[in-house]
Amino acid sequence: MTTSPHAAYRPEYFTPIYEMAVAQFEKAAASINLDPNVWQRFVVPKRALMVSVPIRMGDDSIRVFTGYRVHHDNTLGPSKGGIRYHPDVNLGEVCALAMWMTWKCALVGLPFGGAKGGIRCDPRAMSRVELQRLTRRYTAEILPILGPDIDVPAPDMGTNEQTMAWMMDTYSQFKGYAVPGVVTGKPIAIGGSQGRNEATGRGVVYTILEAMKHLGVQPEGKRAAIQGFGNVGSITAKALVEAGCRVIAISDVSGGVVNDRGLDVAGAIEHVARHGSLDGFSGGERLSNAELLEVACDILVPAALSGQITKANAERVRCRILAEGANGPTLLEADPILQGRGIFVIPDILANAGGVTVSYFEWVQGLQHLFWKEREVYERLREIMTTAFAQVLATAQEKKVDMRMAALMIGIQKIAAAKLARGIFP
Ligand code: GLU
Repeated sequence: MTTSPHAAYRPEYFTPIYEMAVAQFEKAAASINLDPNVWQRFVVPKRALMVSVPIRMGDDSIRVFTGYRVHHDNTLGPSKGGIRYHPDVNLGEVCALAMWMTWKCALVGLPFGGAKGGIRCDPRAMSRVELQRLTRRYTAEILPILGPDIDVPAPDMGTNEQTMAWMMDTYSQFKGYAVPGVVTGKPIAIGGSQGRNEATGRGVVYTILEAMKHLGVQPEGKRAAIQGFGNVGSITAKALVEAGCRVIAISDVSGGVVNDRGLDVAGAIEHVARHGSLDGFSGGERLSNAELLEVACDILVPAALSGQITKANAERVRCRILAEGANGPTLLEADPILQGRGIFVIPDILANAGGVTVSYFEWVQGLQHLFWKEREVYERLREIMTTAFAQVLATAQEKKVDMRMAALMIGIQKIAAAKLARGIFP
């Protein structure tokens, strides 16, 4: 249900996930009495490019993939956001993820707008050579809307620092000189930042530790269940163990394992590095991804796909703190159920903002040709995450709204003020 002046007109990217992003936005916008003119401007992404990505496959046949890059907003600076390789990628999803990036960057005070990109493909079924061709051709196709001052991609689901290295190289080949600032999350050898790889997971844990402080809970021995064991889930698990928690359940595309006495997280990370997934990892009983969400625990971290916590299973989620490592893991109608059950939700745009925050550090270090030590990166990251957490909590308490609404209200307010100050062209 939406109330925007724009509600009557719903272009094709208004898929369920985009509707959800818009509905979240409109609820927050209504609570801050957002100027209706600015309101409308946030509902329609600034620009979206759909491209055909033809590549030669390993068997010599040609296959054409569909790629997207969406800039939701660029009021404060270049647009920023990851590139996703997944079989379900579509325009509506990319638009929703781009909008969430706008609020996320604003919330933690980065001079970026929001963007997202993706290719509809199954990277797990593709060879390294095919992935390299796919990445290079996609980069060439979206070249007109890329650049360190225009739009700066980063890794997301299904992509990694190697993908970023190929993007950086392709862009630089077109320019004729090295342009490290065109992407973040790249390898350290070509200007990546210390700590970027661990940033999202560590940031998730910084916010969990703040939530525990607020709730008067000690981390020692607290049980954590984590859905998704990619970059975000695995580093979150590792950092939770470092903080004294006990990781009792983990899962990935191949399913998961549960053991109330705790799992060997370092062993699981090694297993995935060797075998590509958690399949065959022992140390507990097998469980499905859906079952993992209902495991009795203190901390639940959905760090995989969106739309995991629904009206149907929100009643059965048994945790004290729910930290959203993934983007959009909780459907709008599940929020009041979780809140009614006293579950403390750390919303995605706050919980997983550590990734884009260190991306910002990487971009800044690249512009200055000056590189920071790992310790400095983590100190600055922790400072930004804890400050944002405190601001969101204060707003939630003052306005009597949940943490998601508070986070959205702060992010939207900041960009809205910038948009109003700039006015409208022409
Ligand atoms: N893909 C990550 C996110 O969803 C990181 C984006 C970035 O670093 O630009 O926040």
